Amino acid sequence: MGGKDRGRVLLDRVLAGIPAGESPVTHVAELPQRIPRTVDWPEWTPSELISALRVCGVDRPWVHQVAAANLAREGRHVVVATGTASGKSLAYQLPVLADLLADNKATALYLAPTKALGADQLRAAAGFGVPGVRPAPFDGDTPPAERDWARAHARWIFTNPDMLHRGILPSHGRWAGFFRRLRYVVVDECHAYRGVFGSHVALLLRRLRRVARRYGADPVFVLASATVAAPERSASVLAGVECQAVVDDGSPRGARTVALWEPPLLDELSGENGAPVRRSAGAEAARILADLVVEGARTLAFVRSRRGAEFTALGARRQLSEVDDELAGRVAAYRAGYLPEERRALESSLDDGALLGVATTNALELGVDIAGLDAVVIAGYPGTLASFWQQAGRAGRAGDGALVVFVARDDPLDTYLVHHPAAVLERPVEATVLDPGNPYVLTPQLACAAAELPVTDEDIDELGGSAAAETLEELAADGVVRRRRTGWYWVARDRPHASVDIRGSGGEQVAVVEADTGRMLGTVDPSSACATVHPGAVYLHQGASYVVDDLDLDTGLALVHAEDPEWTTSARDVVDIRVVRTLEERRYPGVSVCLGEVEVTTQVVGYLRRLPSGEILDHVPLDLPPQTLHTRAVWYTVSGPLLHDSAPGGAGLKPAHIPGALHAAEHAAIGLLPLFATCDRWDIGGVSTAAHTDTGEATVFVHDGHPGGAGFADRGFAAITPWLTATREAISFCECPAGCPSCVQSPKCGNGNEPLDKTGAVAVLDVVLRAITPAGA
Ligand SMILES: [Zn+2]
Ligand SMILES: [Zn+2]
Repeated sequence: MGGKDRGRVLLDRVLAGIPAGESPVTHVAELPQRIPRTVDWPEWTPSELISALRVCGVDRPWVHQVAAANLAREGRHVVVATGTASGKSLAYQLPVLADLLADNKATALYLAPTKALGADQLRAAAGFGVPGVRPAPFDGDTPPAERDWARAHARWIFTNPDMLHRGILPSHGRWAGFFRRLRYVVVDECHAYRGVFGSHVALLLRRLRRVARRYGADPVFVLASATVAAPERSASVLAGVECQAVVDDGSPRGARTVALWEPPLLDELSGENGAPVRRSAGAEAARILADLVVEGARTLAFVRSRRGAEFTALGARRQLSEVDDELAGRVAAYRAGYLPEERRALESSLDDGALLGVATTNALELGVDIAGLDAVVIAGYPGTLASFWQQAGRAGRAGDGALVVFVARDDPLDTYLVHHPAAVLERPVEATVLDPGNPYVLTPQLACAAAELPVTDEDIDELGGSAAAETLEELAADGVVRRRRTGWYWVARDRPHASVDIRGSGGEQVAVVEADTGRMLGTVDPSSACATVHPGAVYLHQGASYVVDDLDLDTGLALVHAEDPEWTTSARDVVDIRVVRTLEERRYPGVSVCLGEVEVTTQVVGYLRRLPSGEILDHVPLDLPPQTLHTRAVWYTVSGPLLHDSAPGGAGLKPAHIPGALHAAEHAAIGLLPLFATCDRWDIGGVSTAAHTDTGEATVFVHDGHPGGAGFADRGFAAITPWLTATREAISFCECPAGCPSCVQSPKCGNGNEPLDKTGAVAVLDVVLRAITPAGA
């Protein structure tokens, strides 16, 4: 290595000129380099495959690649969960290609969460030039003639869950030859299958296995994942079969310096209810990016939105043009679609140094072959640790240090993370959350399964057990399936597949259409339509701004026109929550913690128009119908005496402060749940009240935002103590006087962030945590 590490040197340069007392860096960690460990090719590898791989630059495989390949080859389902750029692909390419070479009728199926990734993997598989494999795509972009060819001749099909669901399984008879010899199913980047989408994919994989069995095949599942907690458990829930995990990463990695960075508070600005405001993560990232480019460091900056990426690149270019116009020209925003050529061009210009700095959204996280950069700037926590490490993994070449800077955004989770380095640096990546038992997923999936093949008793066990049996009874009552001696048969006229959206959350989507041109811009979940596309709402689509003229919930249509006003809009709503059924309850003195089914009724009553400075122009009332959502929630109650008591052990709150204290505790809890479940704060919601009708006490609810739930509330219930501990810390560590977006304010609050009581929230969480934590723990 020699001399001072390159990552450290770059960090010193970025911090140059900032007085020591004002350093935004809250923590610096040095991650050591990892030495590569290779092994011989497994003895079963055909020699022509070894030569093909050598031609493509793979001389000797790494330990994890061979460990996973060996398991798959022995017929064991396996998940390989290792870091970015650790060559996970070879772990499945090896057994698949060896089998396809050994048996000229054998077939394999590859599934990717995105078309871009699928296209890359297809290119790689085709690039080996192994004779007779005939890899081919089969996705929404494949022309009909090529589809016919693929079905008849390809032995390795590259597709995605959407196409498997709509295009392959419903017409499995036409794929009989393919299914009969199906040896392997590869599920790539499987940590992407979470929440409602993940629950759908879990049932889709069970449908796939059932169809394969019908043709006499029992394929081995090979899953690839970013490093996640308990990979064998997540993979087994997803695939529906027992999976063995390979986690011992044998690939090399350069040393990295990781700096956690909190932008300073701005003196000249104030936000909602007079709260202090920090410099934005995007502006801070622009400055860091410019400094790194001046040092000649090849840098990627990850920003949360497209608009943000443009803004960051623009900011960096502006600062660089004061130094050197030539340098300014070597910074770009990556905002183009996902066309492979565009990504190739970007890869090569970063590789040869034509570009030095690129600001991008998470779009670049998957399916781009960029590694070994000098620096990565992550502006805003990307939602999961898996994504965080995926992005950070772009930095660092063996033998050469690199810098990773994580810049906190103004929200409770980011604030918590920059003040709790262990939560970023030492914590295992969060478990992937999905729930194949969700009735809103199970019902349409069972309908599809029955339409593909009659559902037998044996299938029922695999498809969800007693919940599946009950669901089939309901489908029978609706007249779409019928029970016969040999199983449940689909009897309705139309097949259900086309109306089942595996990425959505059920219900008819609301289409957002430009009135002048008739162009459809996108769709919105029916449950959130009132809040996001109400009349007057500013709607953003791929960086362009529109204003909504009309929302018709009956026809599922929102009409918009192009307009870029200087204000943004935020809906105001009234929310009511009812406990339908308590599923689990833990009682403690004065406190209870529950998990159950709830009905959330939301009525959007108006919206605020707000200028970028935070100034509010006006409040516009709206008359929209209430919407109900049946879902799952986790909640805790606190008794009156515990809240009021000012003696030690009580929260000592005056009655007037209780609603604000609970509301603040609710906001922060929503902000911190993503630390324990792979969700985003927009996937969940909350309600708090000083006296709830169903519980009779002060109650804070946090609920899933999707019909039937996606497992997030369940995770919150399971992790209640660490979750509420982190929530308390996030609030108490924030240096603001009375609440700000970094702690208790929420951008999606339907009540204008009022009332909020920051100190009261800490007092409430203290009494709850004292009650639920066993003494001495
Ligand atoms: Zn604060
Ligand atoms: Zn609120």
